Amino acid sequence: MSKTPIVKTSIVYIGLGSNLDRPVSQLQKAITALGQLPGTRVLADSGYYTSKPMGPEDQPDYYNAVVQIETSLLPHALLEQCQAIEHQQGRVKTRHWGERCIDVDILLYADQQISEPDLTIPHPGISQRDFVYKPLLKLHAEIEIPGEGLLAVLVEKKKGENPETGYDCSFAGTLE
Ligand code: ADP
Ligand code: MG
Repeated sequence: MSKTPIVKTSIVYIGLGSNLDRPVSQLQKAITALGQLPGTRVLADSGYYTSKPMGPEDQPDYYNAVVQIETSLLPHALLEQCQAIEHQQGRVKTRHWGERCIDVDILLYADQQISEPDLTIPHPGISQRDFVYKPLLKLHAEIEIPGEGLLAVLVEKKKGENPETGYDCSFAGTLE
């Protein structure tokens, strides 16, 4: 009798952003590609949100989304795959926080905390960037940032400290 091997999987949240070359299609394409990675399936997506650019202001507005995936890929292997998806979709490095056809970031990987030169998890700035926390909280209102606590509480605390922040992020539609 053959047995199916037991493979450990983790719940991971991926943040996506685009402001070039038909951004909504770029988000959809990247989500499809994530679902085709080995040992990976997409469990839920936030729909897409629009927001003002972070960094240089002379660039188009952004389209953002967050997806929840289940994957057996370990964090560094997943980072490589995220970068491969960016590459496949033709991302070209421009200026820091500049325009891009697709950005694929690992926001949270289960309860892991990683601080390495090429990989920081949780992704820095989640609780200050409305284009990240709004779609994330839509998917999971009670989500915790490992080492920091409930995201919803952190967001309110940061807003209290600096009420001027935010990128006018708002829900703009569903993704197929
Ligand atoms: P940004 O997303 O800040 O605009 P890039 O997409 O150009 O920047 O990524 C710059 C570097 O960020 C990548 O080379 C990658 O090694 C690093 N990085 C660190 N932590 C993460 C993470 N959690 N997800 C994705 N990239 C990360
Ligand atoms: Mg990135």
